Amino acid sequence: MNPSSRIPGHLFLHAPGPTHVPDEVVHAMSRQPMDMADRRLDLTIAACEKGLRRLLHTEAADIFLYAANGHGAWEAVIVNLVEPGQSVLVPGTGHFSEAWALQTQAMGGQVVRTPWTEGLPIDADAVQAALRADTDRSIVAVFAVHTDTASGITSDIAALRTAIDAVGHPALLVVDVVASLGVTPFAMDALGVNVVLGASQKGLMCPPGLGFAAADRRAMAVCERNSSPRFYWDWRMRLSDLSYRKFCGTPPQTLLMGLEAALGLIFQEGVEQVVRRHRLMASMVHAAIARWSEAGALDFFGTQAGSRSDSVTAITVAAGIDPEALRTVARERFQVAIAGGLGPLSGRVFRIGHLGDINAPMILGCLAGVEAAMRVQNIPFGAGAIQDAVACLARG
Ligand SMILES: *Cc1c(COP(=O)(O)O)cnc(C)c1O
Repeated sequence: MNPSSRIPGHLFLHAPGPTHVPDEVVHAMSRQPMDMADRRLDLTIAACEKGLRRLLHTEAADIFLYAANGHGAWEAVIVNLVEPGQSVLVPGTGHFSEAWALQTQAMGGQVVRTPWTEGLPIDADAVQAALRADTDRSIVAVFAVHTDTASGITSDIAALRTAIDAVGHPALLVVDVVASLGVTPFAMDALGVNVVLGASQKGLMCPPGLGFAAADRRAMAVCERNSSPRFYWDWRMRLSDLSYRKFCGTPPQTLLMGLEAALGLIFQEGVEQVVRRHRLMASMVHAAIARWSEAGALDFFGTQAGSRSDSVTAITVAAGIDPEALRTVARERFQVAIAGGLGPLSGRVFRIGHLGDINAPMILGCLAGVEAAMRVQNIPFGAGAIQDAVACLARG
């Protein structure tokens, strides 16, 4: 295919990020930039902060927005909370916990890891044991990934809070909600989460380029004491009403207009309905995979049905099947973009994203396109998967 030729119709973007951007967000982003003293800019920034607070279910956390991706938000959290030489505990969830751990080490932090068992969520008992073993209380924070996008598995954040409290450990609880916010219920204050970080291009339905962190009072106190040299990311410098200081320079206006619109869509639909819709989309995908798996060549990567995420599902392939070739056929011939395996799962899984601005016919189109690609690739799969997904939809 000539990459510059137009492909007719809707292209099915089923990566777990970036995700499909709603027309309302595209339109909001098509406005001209504003003069920095324009009141409308302040109103947009305030709406983004207020909307994120509402979506995170936090009353008082400070919101820090960055012209950055999720890795930028990781950097912000690390440099504001962890001095070189200090320790954090990173519970294993797979590719993303490990990437965050490596970034922390690159910035001078020490990392204590709990092991990850493939197919499973965070082991809260292992977290509790690691914190108990930290008798001099040198661990500053627990860095936990809520939904690991590489494994498609969601971990129980409440169980982590319980584990930390059971030992009476003072470590902050920091949660990466990049892939779960706007999909899976999350209540920062009720969960006792001290810091949250996220990015624009997954459940928040915006293009990539905006990262954010939310920090509570305890986290801000740690930030105040932290002597790490920093400037752009520094939360202290960003506690200002002046947008030029709030963003350490010119705000990313266009992305902020998009985020304001996207948050508006989420609240218009209703957060509970957004959660229900994602549940239904995930159950359709899961029904299809269960049927496909009957032929023995495919299986769920997540071994516990209850921890498979509502954002993305990872599917393992039998030896001899090349998931990258499947992806290429799905994308090039059937206009369905799915994701491959990351890190230790590369070449072993493909992934179907089902988050963001998505509805049932989009899921059915995606599943049918993947099935067509499996047929082309001679991958054996159980028959009736699409009917099962439709039955799931009809049940509601
Ligand atoms: C995508 C993702 C990231 C990284 O975000 P980028 O915007 O790609 O830097 C971090 N954590 C999780 C859980 C993710 O899904």
